[in-house]
Amino acid sequence: MPAPRFFGNRGIADSLFRMAAANRLPQTLLFAGPAGIGKATLARLLAAGINCDRGPARPCGECSACLRILAADLFRAEYRKQLEERAKLPAAKRSESPLIVSTHPDFLIFPPDGPLRMIQIEQARRLRQAARYNPSEGRRRVFVIDRADRANPEAANALLKTLEEPAPALTIILIAENPYELLPTIRSRAIPFYFAPLASDEVERFLATREEIPPEERGRTAAWSGGSPGRAVALDIEEFIRRREAMLTLLQTALGAVEFARLAGEMQSFTRAGGGSIESAAEMLYSLLRDLLRIKLGAGGVLTHADIRADLAPLAERAAFEWVERARAQTAELEKLQRRNIQKQMALEALALDLRASA
Ligand SMILES: [Zn+2]
Repeated sequence: MPAPRFFGNRGIADSLFRMAAANRLPQTLLFAGPAGIGKATLARLLAAGINCDRGPARPCGECSACLRILAADLFRAEYRKQLEERAKLPAAKRSESPLIVSTHPDFLIFPPDGPLRMIQIEQARRLRQAARYNPSEGRRRVFVIDRADRANPEAANALLKTLEEPAPALTIILIAENPYELLPTIRSRAIPFYFAPLASDEVERFLATREEIPPEERGRTAAWSGGSPGRAVALDIEEFIRRREAMLTLLQTALGAVEFARLAGEMQSFTRAGGGSIESAAEMLYSLLRDLLRIKLGAGGVLTHADIRADLAPLAERAAFEWVERARAQTAELEKLQRRNIQKQMALEALALDLRASA
């Protein structure tokens, strides 16, 4: 394996590698930002670089320490399967053997566990015990708490105790999509790094190093990923187009551009085939509405859905700014409702009708 590259958020990566090389890495780091933009990847690269046979520096990607640490990628199929299997176990079984992923004795990952995907108290206890030991092979131990913002209260309190008693050769990396859901007392102990979405061409360069997306699809997949390489490699192009077609029809209906009868058919096939979720519908609506705004503002920026600009432009003309704002607010309301087991097709049609009344 050649020396691994990190895509995007270069300022963050540079400063962390600098601190690591000078052996001045803080005890607790917070990596915050949306899913799939490289937070866990950078945690692995950092841990590998610190413990690399040729380090501390950026990881060489070839020595045994690098290979083992870099292999702990929870997006790999083997780990995804393992996590799905665990979610089916009874709670007692799970607490007997708390979930910890470790491919190197000085690098431990604590992923959220169970059907609700939460960090559990048993994991936090094991972390606290493990924090007492010195590095056994490498220079510095690195523990990663993946989705620390999803720790239940007992786990969060146990974690706080560990952070209050810093161990000399240990760095704990808290990964969070919503850092404000961490206990303030935990947040205040961590040095925060806020990861930003990548530019579309950066995602495209990343895709060029991977095999998941064929070369001719890289451009639009990158644009559709919202700046998230993780989302780009996992993107199902056919599903995305189907979902977009359905949500475009919803907006067209809401703006009186097509007949209501067409919407019912589209919503039925969206909620039936593959069970399109409210969450995935909302995500698509937000990104279409964002593009409508961009067109209305005449902003030079690139559209997420540049390939259907011809469909979006007449809608942007029909929609007032206030309408777009209302559509966003009502989509957010719809997302809250999904927790109450609503009938999806009806909810989506109601959204279109409501917005049509105010168009
Ligand atoms: Zn190495």
